[in-house]
Amino acid sequence: MNLLRSFKSLFLLELLGGMRVTGRYLFKKKFTVQYPEERAPMSPRFRGHHALRRYANGEERCIACKLCEVICPAMAITIELAERDDGTRRTTRYDIDMTKCIYCGFCEEACPVDAIVETRVYEYVGEERGDLLMSKEKLLAMGDKHEQQIAADRAADAPYR
Ligand code: SF4
Ligand code: SF4
Repeated sequence: MNLLRSFKSLFLLELLGGMRVTGRYLFKKKFTVQYPEERAPMSPRFRGHHALRRYANGEERCIACKLCEVICPAMAITIELAERDDGTRRTTRYDIDMTKCIYCGFCEEACPVDAIVETRVYEYVGEERGDLLMSKEKLLAMGDKHEQQIAADRAADAPYR
């Protein structure tokens, strides 16, 4: 065994093997993309930054049922709620702690009214821990900004749900 290893080392066989692999792929089509100018294709099911959606009339979809909060394995969602004058329930607080979230998608799977969704947005950063605590206002703003893409993705994915 040692003799074989010495023979390979002496004649640089492993190095030649590595160079042969490099040579084989040198002129093949490249798989890398020049991010951020180029982007890889993305699935409509991509699980990025969360958003809270509204109906077309501006009414928020969330009915404060708390299913997302209960199912979240990371306990990242915190909801408080109140009843409105018309008897409907709405959240008074809806926070997602992104430092806890594991992007499993259970919250959007559980939601009966498609209110909480995960968007294609993945380029976000926080310099302080509080920057990654997403409040209801931030989540609704995210939903308002990306509603067109969210609706298109939900429609594309609908036959598979
Ligand atoms: S994606 Fe998963 S971990 Fe993140 S908030 Fe939703 S249920 Fe919780
Ligand atoms: S986002 Fe959906 S699941 Fe969560 S409380 Fe609102 S309606 Fe219920």
